[in-house]
Amino acid sequence: MFKPRRTAIRFLASQSERAVATARLGGASKTTVIGSALIHAASPTKTVPVLRQARSLATASTSTLDSLVQDAQQLPLFDKILIANRGEIACRVIRTAKQLGIKTVAVYSEVDRNALHVQLADEAFYIGPAPSSESYLRMDRILEVALQTGAQAVHPGYGFLSENAGFAQKLFEHGIVFIGPPASAIVSMGSKSESKDIMIAAGVPCVPGYHGQDQSFDVLLSEAKQIGFPVLIKAVMGGGGKGMRICFSEADFLESLTSAQREAQKSFGDSRVLVEKYIVRPRHVEVQVFGDTHGNVISLWERDCSVQRRHQKIIEEAPAPGLSAEVRAQLGAKAVAAARAVGYTGAGTVEFIYDTDTGLFYFMEMNTRLQVEHPVTEMITGLDLVEWQLSVAAGNTLPLDQSSVPLHGHAFEARIYAENPRNNFLPDAGPLLHTRVPPVSRSVRVDEGFKTGSRIEVYYDPLISKLIVHGRTRKDALRQLRAALDQYQVAGVTTNIDFLKTLSAHPAFIEAEVETGFIDKYREDLLGPMSPPSPELLLQAALFSYSREFRHTENGKQSPWTSLTGRRFGGDVLEKTVSFSVPSEGGTERHSVVLSVLGPNIFNCTVTSNGEKTTFEQVRTTIRGPHDIEVTTASDKWHSTIIPHSVGQDPLISTLPIRHFYVFHRGKSTTLTEVLPEWATSRASGTSAVISGNLRAPMPSVIVDVRVKVGEKVTVGQAIVILESMKTETILRAQKEGVVTSVSCKKGEMVSEGQQLVELGDL
Ligand code: ADP
Ligand code: ADP
Ligand code: MG
Repeated sequence: MFKPRRTAIRFLASQSERAVATARLGGASKTTVIGSALIHAASPTKTVPVLRQARSLATASTSTLDSLVQDAQQLPLFDKILIANRGEIACRVIRTAKQLGIKTVAVYSEVDRNALHVQLADEAFYIGPAPSSESYLRMDRILEVALQTGAQAVHPGYGFLSENAGFAQKLFEHGIVFIGPPASAIVSMGSKSESKDIMIAAGVPCVPGYHGQDQSFDVLLSEAKQIGFPVLIKAVMGGGGKGMRICFSEADFLESLTSAQREAQKSFGDSRVLVEKYIVRPRHVEVQVFGDTHGNVISLWERDCSVQRRHQKIIEEAPAPGLSAEVRAQLGAKAVAAARAVGYTGAGTVEFIYDTDTGLFYFMEMNTRLQVEHPVTEMITGLDLVEWQLSVAAGNTLPLDQSSVPLHGHAFEARIYAENPRNNFLPDAGPLLHTRVPPVSRSVRVDEGFKTGSRIEVYYDPLISKLIVHGRTRKDALRQLRAALDQYQVAGVTTNIDFLKTLSAHPAFIEAEVETGFIDKYREDLLGPMSPPSPELLLQAALFSYSREFRHTENGKQSPWTSLTGRRFGGDVLEKTVSFSVPSEGGTERHSVVLSVLGPNIFNCTVTSNGEKTTFEQVRTTIRGPHDIEVTTASDKWHSTIIPHSVGQDPLISTLPIRHFYVFHRGKSTTLTEVLPEWATSRASGTSAVISGNLRAPMPSVIVDVRVKVGEKVTVGQAIVILESMKTETILRAQKEGVVTSVSCKKGEMVSEGQQLVELGDL
């Protein structure tokens, strides 16, 4: 042991890394190692390798001096890179670049001016309007920024230009490194049919099918018949699940084909398709591969991404559960063969479809970029794949050989999307009024792209963030995942968080019975009837609403809600009714809470929900922050985080804003809409005053607004006049169709009970 150490130290001492070695020998603390390394680095180009060493010393206590020597021989990484992407992946790349002392340049579109990736980067440049075709896909603009800022390399992330060979080529021509494979590998793998030909030649099994040039209907149909139905029709240039149709019989073939071709033309500007055997119970198993420019290619184990909606992944794990050591080894070997066949360098993913009925697997496609789900591989190997990408792009050899790739425990990634699982997982967009991520630890990681205050834009992928967890076993990791999801809060857009929770608690998922049809198979369990909000939840929301109003009134700012929903009885007891509506299977449901105010922060409360009353006595509230309320009764204590948000106006009372309350209680999120209590709405609708075409004031009041003019036609229910009396607004509405024949009041005027306001004649 002693000898190699001495050699290594002498070697290091000849470099400017002397400080590292000395500190290491002297048994200095990890912090000192990093500190001195930074201080003693002789030149900017040296900083990076020194820092890398210091980091490896600091984080890996088992790191030997041998690996230090190897590190010292590494070529320096870039000083500055440009990240041609946005959202979580741009933030992810910036994080590693920062750790390595590499400067970062962000680019952004019109709507991303204040985006998180812009804030995190050292420099940021505007590249165009929101649509990606005018910004994140503008190669010329991005190249210009790279040249102008002196970025030596471009990291494309995933999506956008990541698999664009033309972009890789263009950068190359300008002496800028594309952090990805050579353009030729992108071209070969970009076509699902060409890639299959290459794979077959390299001895990699492919799904039986037709991927020829002849695209005539007769040929495609006869090939489909030969393969045997069901078949899957796929766009040759496809990606992201687009341009794909399952076809069950000859009778459906024409329709499936034309719709696949239409979508392919629209999405990829190329209508060519291939036809392959549709595997009925498949799993999606993919292998992470890495190649360097010295001819080394290794695999970093596999991931299972079977659970998908709309052919798109939402939860991924590594390693793939239930694979024999033999299958795992074969998968790895075939993936490496696939990568070698196209001279692959950098990070890539070879996707296989694994037939659970036969145990056979087939090559599906290769993604020539860093994958969305790469963090699960990082969790089980302890490696930083972005660091590897940067290192390989700088011309270094792979840091590990195949036999030394670690595999520890199990990891999951849950993609947090702005989407509505109950509406066919359609994307949602809007402001992130509030986000709170679970505490990050050694086993919980959150790759965020957006924070509170950001907007999820309609122009881009609605991925908000990724939650990644690690455990010793699959079940441990799943427990971590559920616990973390319970603490994940997002208000403002609909998300799939609750869906992911149900999914990760589903017995079949826990037992690893994963397959691509999982969501459809268990749709009932996963998207069953919505449970109504619990009385405790309604109670907390009502008390929160009251407490906010109360503060408002104290400030002297009376809101219409206060006067409309509160009633004072005899002595000093104020009674306040807070009502909520929530979406339910058959439309909306109404729930109400009556609060009797006994003293400052003490209440008796009755919750009426679906006709059932629950009473809570001597309830005390503590407001713990702008969004947190704690409620205690003699026997219970609850806590909720509540985000109120005003949206639009109440259609009944035009001046009253509608408020949504996003309530996070016991790991579940519920959106309540505050509505007027029924007794208030019946009064507010005020239509009783309309007698035989003439509108009279039902009480002494002030005219807030006159909504009609003489000669105007009115329809049933149309607002005619708005009155205010005792701080309560009332809308007078037309009870029958008619035409306004006279208006005898005006805005701001005081009117007495029974006074005629507007006369309506027959049409
Ligand atoms: P992964 O295999 O990493 O899950 P996908 O193939 O689902 O990735 O796509 C990753 C990202 O790239 C997604 O954000 C998707 O919207 C985008 N994407 C994939 N293919 C295309 C394409 N052909 N055109 C535009 N965006 C794409
Ligand atoms: P994309 O480029 O759009 O990601 P893929 O070829 O990778 O397209 O397929 C996407 C998903 O479609 C796979 O993850 C798998 O769930 C399903 N799939 C693909 N090929 C088949 C097949 N032959 N049989 C059944 N399902 C398939
Ligand atoms: Mg795919």
